[in-house]
Parts: sequence; structure tokens; C-alpha cells
Amino acid sequence: MKSDATEKQISHVVDTLKTLGFGTHLSQGVERTVIGAIGDKAVLQKGQIEMLEGVSEIVPIRKPYKLVSREFHHADTVVEISPTVRIGGSHPVVVMAGPCAVENEAMIIDIAKAVKKAGATVLRGGAYKPRTSPYSFQGLGETGLKYLAAARAETGLPIATEVMDTRDVALVAEYADVIQIGARNMQNFNLLKEVGKTRKAVLLKRGLCATIEELLMAAEYIISEGNSNIILCERGIRTMETATRNTLDLSAVPVIKQLSHLPILVDPSHGTGKASLVSPMALAAVACGTHGLMIEVHPTPETAASDGPQSLTYAAFEEMMKDMRVIEEVVRNGRK
Ligand code: PEP
Ligand code: MN
Repeated sequence: MKSDATEKQISHVVDTLKTLGFGTHLSQGVERTVIGAIGDKAVLQKGQIEMLEGVSEIVPIRKPYKLVSREFHHADTVVEISPTVRIGGSHPVVVMAGPCAVENEAMIIDIAKAVKKAGATVLRGGAYKPRTSPYSFQGLGETGLKYLAAARAETGLPIATEVMDTRDVALVAEYADVIQIGARNMQNFNLLKEVGKTRKAVLLKRGLCATIEELLMAAEYIISEGNSNIILCERGIRTMETATRNTLDLSAVPVIKQLSHLPILVDPSHGTGKASLVSPMALAAVACGTHGLMIEVHPTPETAASDGPQSLTYAAFEEMMKDMRVIEEVVRNGRK
């Protein structure tokens, strides 16, 4: 729409598109309003929409994903995680840190305090764990969510935690500030639609064997339900390489920034599977422009209930944070 289009003109265009059978999605920016029209362009007469008052231009989006594309929404999307934590655009790198799994109340509070002190602004921790083996620790469930809430009350840190089942979305949304969709569920379309119906921030992890296009299509499921608070996450993909748990595809960061307006976060913990590789890859992720990092931290990685080998100690996390801010400063301000 033209920058001076009135509310009345905007709703008239939306109504016209709906009558013609299009799905519509409104994106109201500071500069102007963009109306996403999803449907078959062939039903339109030439100039039928252009002639409506207030319309500036029609831009066809040929990509299979529409609303998450840069073509649809040019400016970077900034996702509000809490009143004080925002991710995306030119906001500082957001670090979500914490254990793979919530183990007990005292420990999650202790971790929250430690990661906050080092500069993390979101506490992560799994209450529902997608374990490869059914005999591994499966998480504490709602009790774990309660412990996370206690850690938030104690430190003020918003919490990010995974949901695995559509039946748990309402419950997890009650506790979480960021709902995580794990790599194994990236194409669980019913789960994507369900979190799309909430207005919570969603951290969508790239599937183990998913292409970037498939990740963006998964995000399209969420946004098409009306929730555009999506943070994409590169967490490594499966390749022939066995030296690392996964192959962290850092090129996904600039690629996604070209293709989509959504913020992107990198998880070098699952991306490498080895504590000694987490800091180097976190720094590299910041160097190539990530908006955020997810780092697994545990007071005693050797006794962790899950993902101990890739978890950083408090001291290692603190070091990583200091180094990360140096790189961030260079990326932000360039050469002196
Ligand atoms: C996690 O964040 O602990 C996790 C299970 O991650 P992913 O889904 O990326 O394997
Ligand atoms: Mn983990």
C-alpha cells in the first residue's frame, strides 16, 4: 500500500482479496502496510487490484514460502522475547544458555544465576526431552517447567523450553517465554500449526537432514497461523563427517539473512557435540552475523543427565562470553 493509505483503503483491499478467494496477511510496518495475498494470481483481471485506492504496487513472490520471505517483508523482524530482551535486526546478540535438561530446582536456579552473571539474557532448559533412546532420561515434564519458572522468578531471565507434543502446547506456553521446536519435530506440521496459534516467540530448529528451504517452509506453517514471532535456529545437520556430532552449517546464517526477514540463532552445542568446539564455533557464528546463540551450560558436565560432553562449565561459558563480545564489537562497528 502507499505510505499514506488510509485504514479504510487497506481494509477495502483486504476485503476485495478475500472475496476473490485469497488468504490475506497484514504486515503493518513503520513505513507502510504490506498485504500478503495467498492464492492463485490467475483469477485476477489485469489491473484489478492496482486500480484500488491506496495500492502502490503488486509484487509477485515466486518462492514456495511467502510470508517469511524477504520479498514479502523487507525489514528485519525483531522478536520480543520479554519486555527487555529482543532478538533480530541490530539488537545485541542474544545468548540463551542453560542445561540440556532441567534436573532439579536448586541446580536450575544456580545455573540461571551463573549464566546471567556471564551475560546470557535467556535461560534455556528442557523439561520434555526428545531422546534418541526411549531408555534415556526423558525430562521432568511439568515439574521441570515449574523449576524453570522458579529460576525466572529468582533471576528475571525469560525461559526457552521445548514442546514435543501438540497436547502440551497450552501448558508449555503458560510457562515459557520462548517455545522451542526441536530438530526432530521441524516437520511435525500439526505441532507447527499449534504453536502458530499462540503469540509466543518460537525457536524453530533446523531438522537433522533439512535444507534451508525446508526450514523456511516449516516457519511458513507457523507464520501462516498468524504468529510471526519466529526465531530460526541452525543447530548442525547430518553429513558424512563423524569428527563432530553434526556439521554446523554456518553458511546458513548469511543465506537465511538474504532469504528471510526472521532472526537467526546458532546452536554450536548440538552443532558440534563437543565442549572444546563450542566457543570457536560460537565466535564464528557471531562473526558471520548471527542474531543469537544457544549454549548448553552445566555446573558438572561429567554428571549431566544429558548432553554432558557438549556442555560448558560456568568458567568456560564466562570465557566464551568475553571473547564473543569482542567479535561482536568488531562486527558492529567494523574496522577502526
Ligand atoms: C536441545 O536443544 O536440547 C535439543 C534437543 O536440540 P535439537 O532439537 O537441536 O537436537
Ligand atoms: Mn541438548
